[in-house]
Amino acid sequence: MKTYRIACIPGDGIGKEVIPAGQEVLQALAAAGAGFGFAFTSFGWGGDWYRAHGQMMPDDGLEALRGMDAILFGSAGDPQIPDHVTLWGLRLKICQGFDQYANVRPTRILPGIDAPLKRCTPRDLDWVIVRENSEGEYAGVGGRAHQGHPIEVATDVSMMTRAGVERIMRFAFRLAQSRPRKLLTVVTKSNAQRHAMVMWDQIAAEVAREFPDVRWDKELVDACTARMVNRPASLDTLVATNLHADILSDLAAALAGSLGIAPTGNIDPERRYPSMFEPIHGSAFDIMGQGLANPIGTFWSCVMLLEHLGEHEAAARLMQAIESVTADPALHTGDLGGKARTADVTSAVCHRLKNR
Ligand code: ATP
Repeated sequence: MKTYRIACIPGDGIGKEVIPAGQEVLQALAAAGAGFGFAFTSFGWGGDWYRAHGQMMPDDGLEALRGMDAILFGSAGDPQIPDHVTLWGLRLKICQGFDQYANVRPTRILPGIDAPLKRCTPRDLDWVIVRENSEGEYAGVGGRAHQGHPIEVATDVSMMTRAGVERIMRFAFRLAQSRPRKLLTVVTKSNAQRHAMVMWDQIAAEVAREFPDVRWDKELVDACTARMVNRPASLDTLVATNLHADILSDLAAALAGSLGIAPTGNIDPERRYPSMFEPIHGSAFDIMGQGLANPIGTFWSCVMLLEHLGEHEAAARLMQAIESVTADPALHTGDLGGKARTADVTSAVCHRLKNR
């Protein structure tokens, strides 16, 4: 029987609660006759590691992850450590080290979830946002000079390469092609950013010729926020730069009901390295250690992990169990207006997997 090697990095805050919950659900799936098993290895990297060792993960951390089939990640963020240290020292180190250049974020309104868009039915909101995850505004190109002097200067340069844009466009068109509506919206800002974003648009048009069966349109990022709220059904797959997609996908998560539900995958489409799956929420220190975190975002991330491993039937089974749990308001955590605890939601999903 196949055993998948999964690296678990709970990280900080509620990551330490939702990742063990995710492991429990994956074990329950395996025990319920999925036809494969899991071997989990946990890594205690993050804020506590930083306090003990002065870095978020060890220098040879990527080597320890390299042979894994996939990575399940919680969150990185600590009130005592600057955000740019926690982000660049762990999550981005893995994303960039393993060239996980496609960040994929599905959004749907799950059964039983009260979403803020009153004029929309759950069927109207079914999106996948593809975020360029390796360059652009978060390339890390820039610097500071004359620090502390009146002439101090700081730059963050958005860097886009033809190779980087071509590969994310190709990935997005392919993903759109695999979905029933075959519809892609290319998010841009080429009216104001007249160099890199103009190249982004040009390359989108070039790659589009390889996918004649995919309908596509172009939308300015500011207009896109309004379109997500006013005409959600006009969107299906979206592709956007690192910064634009970062913002749009938080909006998408909120429109679908809660940050606690949304999943994401940092994918290396060429499969040279392990891909990494994580809930989109952060460490949420206000509720940590109390058993109140919603684990659904992690469970849905596990669905994406299973799909990436090619275990489509098991992925569908887990998604069904998740949807049947969200449909019951008695199993809603505080972020959804309910009183359920992380453990209640976890055991309900495990129970449904066992008794399907
Ligand atoms: P970070 O600084 O690590 O990015 P954060 O602490 O700012 O994260 P977010 O995760 O962005 O917090 O979430 C904002 C708030 O939403 C949290 O403070 C928490 O109250 C709530 N929240 C987020 N995720 C969850 C969850 N899984 N379950 C319940 N509440 C959540």
